[in-house]
Amino acid sequence: MTKKGLLIVISGPSGTGKGTICKELLNREQNMKISISATTRETRTGEIDGINYYFIDKDTFENQISQDAFLEHAKVYDNYYGTPKKYVIDEINKGNNVLLEIDIQGALQVKEKYPEGLFIFILPPSMKELKKRIVGRGTESDKAIEKRFKSAFEEIDYVKKYDYFVVNDEVEVAVERIRAIMLAETFKITED
Ligand code: 5GP
Repeated sequence: MTKKGLLIVISGPSGTGKGTICKELLNREQNMKISISATTRETRTGEIDGINYYFIDKDTFENQISQDAFLEHAKVYDNYYGTPKKYVIDEINKGNNVLLEIDIQGALQVKEKYPEGLFIFILPPSMKELKKRIVGRGTESDKAIEKRFKSAFEEIDYVKKYDYFVVNDEVEVAVERIRAIMLAETFKITED
């Protein structure tokens, strides 16, 4: 029987650089697949349907919820986001590792259904640095920045629900920490 792949769930407050970490991780890991989420939010400049997300409307999303097509789904900043279930299950069964970059609400749902997943929380080196990164994006108003920072502050408390935390002081180092965690997990003794 093929050994199942790992389900790796990565979350963290906005500004922690989790997107960059996931991209680097995919570059370095051969048998790793990223799950493409479905969302009802507007496409941003440069984003491509089927690559960044599956961009679908609210009715289609709700229809898919009722068909139990999502491993998890959540409302983030007034838009739906969800992980299509079939792709994830198929790839894991083929022995591939699957990466999910999802918010905390979604991660907690996955943990209920798939506790053997690897739940990793990305932390900024400090709150001061996080604020600098959020401000540094330069795309948002002062009010929006304050809101993001406040919610980042509250979200950090959820780190205790995860299996591991990784501090992103430097992307290269953070990626190697995640790879080390994955390696250890591969050799873990399990019942099956
Ligand atoms: P953005 O709109 O900036 O691409 O993503 C906003 C937030 O939604 C991020 O925290 C991202 O991790 C989260 N997200 C993206 N895809 C999913 C998903 O499939 N499920 C959940 N629960 N969150 C997601």
